[in-house]
Amino acid sequence: DVIGYAHRGAHSAIVFDLADPMGESTCVACGECVQACPTGALAPANDAYLKPVDRQVASVCPYCGVGCQLTYHVHGNAIVRVEGRDGPANHERLCVKGRFGFDYVAHPQRLTKPLIRREGVPKAADFTMNPADPLSVFREATWEEAMALAAGTFARIRDTRGPKALAGFGSAKGSNEEAYLFQKLVRTGFGSNNVDHCTRLCHASSVAALMEGVGSAAVSNPVMDVTQADVVLLIGANPVVNHPVAATWIKNAVKAGTRLVLADPRRSELARHATHYLQFKPDTDVALLNAMMHTIVAEGLVAQEFVAGRTRDYDELARNVAAFSPEAMAPVCGIPAETIRAVARMFATSRAAMILWGMGISQHVHGTDNARCLIALTMLTGQVGRPGTGLHPLRGQNNVQGASDAGLIPMVFPDYQRVDNAAAHAKFAALWGAELDAKPGLTVVEIMNAVHAGEIRGMYVMGENPAMSDPDVHHARAALAQLDMLVVQDIFLTETAYLADVVLPASAFPEKTGTFTNTDRTVQLGRQALQPPGEARQDLAIIVDMGRRLGLPWTYAHPRDVFAEMRQAMPSIAGITWERLEREHAVTYPCEREGDPGERVVFTERFPTADGRARLVPTQLIRAAEQPDPEYPYVLITGRQLEHWHTGSMTRRTEVLAAIEPGPVGSFHPADLAALGVAPGGAVTVASRRGSVTLFARADAGTPRGALFIPFCYYEAAANMLTNPALDPFGKIPEFKYCAVKVTAGGTPAARFGYDNANVAP
Ligand code: SF4
Repeated sequence: DVIGYAHRGAHSAIVFDLADPMGESTCVACGECVQACPTGALAPANDAYLKPVDRQVASVCPYCGVGCQLTYHVHGNAIVRVEGRDGPANHERLCVKGRFGFDYVAHPQRLTKPLIRREGVPKAADFTMNPADPLSVFREATWEEAMALAAGTFARIRDTRGPKALAGFGSAKGSNEEAYLFQKLVRTGFGSNNVDHCTRLCHASSVAALMEGVGSAAVSNPVMDVTQADVVLLIGANPVVNHPVAATWIKNAVKAGTRLVLADPRRSELARHATHYLQFKPDTDVALLNAMMHTIVAEGLVAQEFVAGRTRDYDELARNVAAFSPEAMAPVCGIPAETIRAVARMFATSRAAMILWGMGISQHVHGTDNARCLIALTMLTGQVGRPGTGLHPLRGQNNVQGASDAGLIPMVFPDYQRVDNAAAHAKFAALWGAELDAKPGLTVVEIMNAVHAGEIRGMYVMGENPAMSDPDVHHARAALAQLDMLVVQDIFLTETAYLADVVLPASAFPEKTGTFTNTDRTVQLGRQALQPPGEARQDLAIIVDMGRRLGLPWTYAHPRDVFAEMRQAMPSIAGITWERLEREHAVTYPCEREGDPGERVVFTERFPTADGRARLVPTQLIRAAEQPDPEYPYVLITGRQLEHWHTGSMTRRTEVLAAIEPGPVGSFHPADLAALGVAPGGAVTVASRRGSVTLFARADAGTPRGALFIPFCYYEAAANMLTNPALDPFGKIPEFKYCAVKVTAGGTPAARFGYDNANVAP
């Protein structure tokens, strides 16, 4: 909608919005116009189209879970430009990150040699980072020396203190093969189930509710099904920012007649496209959703046949929601009773209604209850098992679905087979030829607590950055600083690597081949386009080397060898061959036998639970763990920005993305800013009971009064200095979306942290 005509006759001109300067318009810099322009009037900057290209490599975007397919245009060992490819999730579309966020690969701060911490350089939780000068903290080492030190110390800790004194964090950015091998290394090389990854921080509660309710943690329908839905309920998600290409399909669907219900305490861009925008009060999801279910039960809108044949525990659920009338819940959630009723009726009576949700649902101490409500709402109305219906938790990282499927989770082996299930245990012990721990391991936050308690002494972190992404990050950094051996495998000297004993230089996404599973359950092939720089090695080779040094008889020479073993371990992908992925680029699971087409829509006949039925679970109102009070009167909401991914280690080193969003900001309602006496762009200091940061204020009418939003990608004003580590008891996910803070005008913003080469003054 951004580019159009203005003026009349001979004066007509092509403009952005109402002839606004491009940078001030609603342009999101996706570059679609450049890719579409048939005349060359619009072309990439820096003459990228004129540069020579030796080859094109078909691959996948390394950022979000949408999983857009793309083509790298490569010259020598450099990416010249990126174009969208016709993949099932994107049909040639890309967002600003996918199209322009590739030059981090060639950033001068790439790690090119193994590093060992210098003797006498202390590990301090309150370090000041300078990734341009790693040699002030570390010395360069050979691979042999670094690996011998890392693996030798792990083996010593394992053999003297026991297997549970070690833990590993794998990565949702890595491939399926890397995730599979990493969890196998922890389970068979370290000897415990202390392995987890950032799924714990994004959708662990959704996974807990889905496993309990429908016996499967993956989505029932792909995002693209929004184009076949009559009604889409989008709750606790901001896909324009977090899943941008998915958001374009939602906009297309609305234009074609789909009715969108957007429910979120922060008003986002999609509110403009919504039939109903429900700006409910933060922390009141259960009140809103139970009131919708109350309406459906009270008004006789339940899909009786479906509920009788395919669900259980209906009576208990119906009894529970009887206490949640819209009139009773309206003052709790802030949505008028009549609106709640109207939306509930629309959802229940439509031909096909679909629910998509994000971390606004999951990142609460009642995240599992929030997701239970969404499952129950779907089941009550029978809106599942057909195109345009179903449940879709929008997965964040590009491979968080695949990493979870591959078993990078402390309580399950690959394909969610519980470690304490005797049959699963026996199966994996036989497949791997190893004795296995039958007790679930510790989760991300529990591992940090166990380090503080002195129970965990060594950690292997591959491609994750808990020193930025964990809640109450000072606590996490203090834990990492206490370890006898912290090994970090990454492409940059991240905040976590700063606390390491050994740093292993790894491969960036375009430097390796592997499979990646997007939010739609589609397994796609990422292909190597470049060679890693210097002595950096491919991640899979590093994991194999570490495994061998820990005594494992591993002979994997290529990702396809690992994938072949995964097919034996995981019935869901048993029918997918490497050759088919090379040929077709993408196959959706379940695909249990070779030749199966793969299933876009699941739960058509039964649910993968013991009795084939979905379980309806009643929920009660539970408040956030930390409520605002006179001392800390604001609610802090954290999340992502369009331009920056996760903790920013890649995107902040990307020229285009860092130019658009260069430094830390907090978004406030304009009236709150006025009350604070701060002009947009002015400095504010935000403090919680755990820490404080100073950043620049941004006016945003979509942020509710009394709340503020801070993205967690900025090292110099790390939002997770403030967040509360309180956990959802089922998913063990921290409450990133709600904690109490105070805000004061002024303060000295940390010097703008430049990744160009050094710290840059603001
Ligand atoms: Fe990449 Fe996600 Fe953007 Fe697609 S929507 S280009 S997968 S970041």
